[in-house]
Amino acid sequence: SNRIMLGPLVAAIDQGTSSTRFLVFNAKTAELLSHHQVEIKQSFPKEGWVEEDPKEILQSVYECMDRTCEKMTQLNIDISNIKAVGVTNQRETTLVWDKETGEPLYNAIVWLDLRTQSTVERLINKTPGRNKNHLKHKTGLPISTYFSAVKLRWLMDNVEKVHEAVLSHRAMFGTVDSWLIWSLTGGKKGGVHCTDVTNASRTMLFNIHTMDWDPELCKYFDIPMEILPKVRSSSEIYGLMKSGPLTGVPISGCLGDQSAALVGQMCFKDGQAKNTYGTGCFLLKNVGTKPVMSDHGLLTTVAYKLGRDKPACYALEGSVAIAGAVVPWLKNNLGIIQTSTELEQLAADVGTSYGCYFVPAFSGLYAPYWEPSARGIICGLTQFTNRSHLAFAALEAVCFQTREILDAMNQDSGIHLSQLQVDGGMTSNRLLMQLQADILCIPVVKPSMPETTALGAAMAAGAAEGVSVWSLNPEDLTEVTSEKFEPQINPEESELRYARWKKAVQRAMNWET
Ligand code: ADP
Repeated sequence: SNRIMLGPLVAAIDQGTSSTRFLVFNAKTAELLSHHQVEIKQSFPKEGWVEEDPKEILQSVYECMDRTCEKMTQLNIDISNIKAVGVTNQRETTLVWDKETGEPLYNAIVWLDLRTQSTVERLINKTPGRNKNHLKHKTGLPISTYFSAVKLRWLMDNVEKVHEAVLSHRAMFGTVDSWLIWSLTGGKKGGVHCTDVTNASRTMLFNIHTMDWDPELCKYFDIPMEILPKVRSSSEIYGLMKSGPLTGVPISGCLGDQSAALVGQMCFKDGQAKNTYGTGCFLLKNVGTKPVMSDHGLLTTVAYKLGRDKPACYALEGSVAIAGAVVPWLKNNLGIIQTSTELEQLAADVGTSYGCYFVPAFSGLYAPYWEPSARGIICGLTQFTNRSHLAFAALEAVCFQTREILDAMNQDSGIHLSQLQVDGGMTSNRLLMQLQADILCIPVVKPSMPETTALGAAMAAGAAEGVSVWSLNPEDLTEVTSEKFEPQINPEESELRYARWKKAVQRAMNWET
């Protein structure tokens, strides 16, 4: 037959908050050859609770893999050219399953979930000086609802099945990467229970200096270390696929989604940064091989460790909980739009929020405030305000939140970024990109291949020892083509709007206390 000869290919599983994707790249050119995407259902069983079904997540991975391989076969591309698979995933989302039955013992508690607010308050109250940064010197993180340890604590305290499985030594804890790798490498029949350093660094149980689970942290949260996965680097062979169209192919890359985007955007040098606009918004700056602690509300996290014998690199991170997540809220809760494209059109119709400010603090405020008791507000309304202004304010909110993170980063380092590299589902919104350049007063640069998260995971998988079909040598990497959005409004106007936003944020703070 007329099989197309392409050389080695590498695939990535990208399991995000709102969808799962499977993508295949050419390891020589980084070209995206084929992919498939499936939406993931989120449930909100109580106010502030966000859950997903672990089996649906796993099924979606198999479905994306099957469909992508079918598409490749139709394109006459031989799927046996796929030499490795990388995994990238929504971070912090917490699962516990039974290693004997392979059954999840509860739904996955999604990173955005707020049910642990009282657990967090209790922990902070018993901490010297009620200091939420008490564990920061080891973890790089403040004590918050966001990270996995508190979610796991909640599961052990509130779900009988989890409690029992822990006592009878049948429980396995994992973030989404661990659940997927364990299941794909055989599950209850010998699956590999592991995670990578980037995902581990988001649990609050991991010491980012020793690069291992920390007995003191585990004791603080009262979590038995035997339920934790083994921590590996982000680029090594963890195991082989045990079923599906890619049976026998090594899984050899694993990175939390934000780390994967940093790699996919080729931010390998100290000082390079990227901002990803998905469900939330995450700005990460590579700070090199020594962790740097923030004085302005940013997190210190492991950026990547691309091989067992390679050094770990760290990042400063500003996390925004709600970015793209305003879209389904405006659609399902308010009913003012039907699609995300409609949001852009509505906002473009007016081109201004007309003094309306929308702080979508649905899950409290993350960086730089770390205020779980903040709640969303819409203010500055007049008789004149309509849904178009609200749509505009929703987009502007994403840009203002990014500005706050960038300011914190500039203050921490004293060095100002001269442009911002961006990616993620929301960057298809051109109005948002222009607004972002206007509000930051620096150019915004978007690569023409938007799947940088998956690309990063594929690169890590292809570069692993024993696979070695992808070079991570900066000189060998393909030149990326991109689109640039230049600031168009004057800086005074930008400052004025930003000052108003800051006032709105103050009103959203401490709402629940
Ligand atoms: P995640 O990895 O968090 O699932 P993605 O990077 O896949 O996120 O991006 C999906 C998010 O982007 C969704 O929250 C969606 O509402 C938002 N989004 C997609 N297209 C647009 C658009 N044109 N305008 C605004 N938001 C958008």
